[in-house]
Amino acid sequence: MHAEVTPSTLDTEQRQRLFRELQAELPQEGLLHTTEELRPYECDALPAYRRLPMAVALPETLEQARAVLRICRAAGVPVVARGAGTGLSGGALPLENGVVLSLARFNRILEIDVDNRCAVVEPGVRNLAITEAAAPHGLYYAPDPSSQIACTIGGNVAENSGGVHCLKYGLTVHNVIGLKILTIDGELVTLGGKTLDAPGYDLLALMTGSEGMLGIIVEVTVRLLPRPERAQVLMASFDLVEDAGRAVTAIIGAGIIPGGLEMMDNPSIRAAEDFVHAGYPVDAAAMLLCELDGSNAEVSEQIMKVRDLLLSHKATDVSTAETEEQRARFWAGRKAAFPAVGRISPDYYCMDGTIPRKHLAMVLNRIDELGREYGLRVANVFHAGDGNLHPLILFDANVAGELEKAEELGGRILELCVEVGGTVTGEHGVGVEKLNQMCVQFSAEELTQFHAIKAAFDPESLLNPGKAVPTLHRCAEFGAMHVKNGQLPFPDLPRF
Ligand SMILES: Cc1cc2nc3c(=O)[nH]c(=O)nc-3n(C[C@H](O)[C@H](O)[C@H](O)COP(=O)(O)OP(=O)(O)OC[C@H]3O[C@@H](n4cnc5c(N)ncnc54)[C@H](O)[C@@H]3O)c2cc1C
Repeated sequence: MHAEVTPSTLDTEQRQRLFRELQAELPQEGLLHTTEELRPYECDALPAYRRLPMAVALPETLEQARAVLRICRAAGVPVVARGAGTGLSGGALPLENGVVLSLARFNRILEIDVDNRCAVVEPGVRNLAITEAAAPHGLYYAPDPSSQIACTIGGNVAENSGGVHCLKYGLTVHNVIGLKILTIDGELVTLGGKTLDAPGYDLLALMTGSEGMLGIIVEVTVRLLPRPERAQVLMASFDLVEDAGRAVTAIIGAGIIPGGLEMMDNPSIRAAEDFVHAGYPVDAAAMLLCELDGSNAEVSEQIMKVRDLLLSHKATDVSTAETEEQRARFWAGRKAAFPAVGRISPDYYCMDGTIPRKHLAMVLNRIDELGREYGLRVANVFHAGDGNLHPLILFDANVAGELEKAEELGGRILELCVEVGGTVTGEHGVGVEKLNQMCVQFSAEELTQFHAIKAAFDPESLLNPGKAVPTLHRCAEFGAMHVKNGQLPFPDLPRF
């Protein structure tokens, strides 16, 4: 895979000066710049793209983070924010001439406000740590990416992350009520807070999913929810993937919003079962996990309804987790599905696109056909209720050309999502991975607006440049932009 490489602009002397200035502001061991020190930062969880940065800064305080931005801005050096580096689209991929600003040491939970049912935390706090801190109060933080044990809330906000429970409780954007950000100038801006609404444009929503391109998130206030009285999960097996897809549509169509509604196809079921022994039906073509939560009475009623719907949509078997331990076991296979698939193939490439639910069955069939066309196996494990697909393309990077084939197949799958009225990302962001498909999704006018928004926050394009929004030039090269008389529609736009 290739990435647009920004050329190095500082000579050796300028670099040394930059390091000295940064070191003077940062704590001891707060600046890394030898190759050995930089190696762990060369990629995120999309390792096909790798690049060593010029340096990594690890500030511990707001003032130190502000100083890093000030120094980098003065030197014209790009800054790439980084949480835990679990991103799957290359969002935290460093720039050769840039500084990685790690927020890992901003890891304090500042407040659990039980009365207002919210938590105020620093951006480097792990997603799961918020729920752990809220648990003694009977509260939890709903968005639960499968990576929640490691990923940071700052990364979640920057990617607008999702998870199993987002079908009912919303994505990160619906659960973040306040942010503090540092602009590239080092100005501290407060967006939202503990109250329900704020006047003016909804900059809070704009910042969520902005992939480190508009500002550095330094504090997050999240909504906490009361733990439901009861949660119970059903596991249903199907002989045909299409039947599982139709069952998903039927459940939601019946007015039931499950706490989670996930689908796995046969390769994923087998891989997960081998890995965690969750009791999955290894001969099924597909299985659904459907969690219902709420009051006792609500759950009892919905369990019956969903069971009937599943059986009337050709489920061959439906079992209910009767204990908390069994419920955790059913989910353990799903949560470990990515690493489980990693055990059955030398490499896999995880795609992330979203489609209208009603097209699930048709799109899964098309993905199967595309996989055959490219001679690559595809395992599917995904948030079916949200229509958020995660085809895992299995390949071997040591076989010449397979990586490129996997990448091309991934692109075709995303384009299929757009074709049926969906989007090229559900929760993993665009990063460097989906830049070409952004050209398919958006018109030149729309991309121009995105660039204008970026320029309003970051006129010199120093915050994570080259990510998330493609240049029109790139789109023209990709063949997805109309070029008239040799001119792009907006010839004056930056081409970084
Ligand atoms: C096994 C596995 C399972 C996963 N499952 C899910 C899932 O179920 N749902 C899901 O949504 N994602 C999932 N992911 C993807 C990933 O965990 C999320 O995107 C997560 O939000 C990234 O958080 P991070 O702290 O690792 O961020 P990083 O990877 O470090 O950074 C991600 C992006 O956020 C920016 N950023 C990070 N911190 C800040 C900050 N403080 N201010 C401004 N910008 C910042 C970075 O520049 C980058 O663009 C999974 C990943 C793995 C490896």
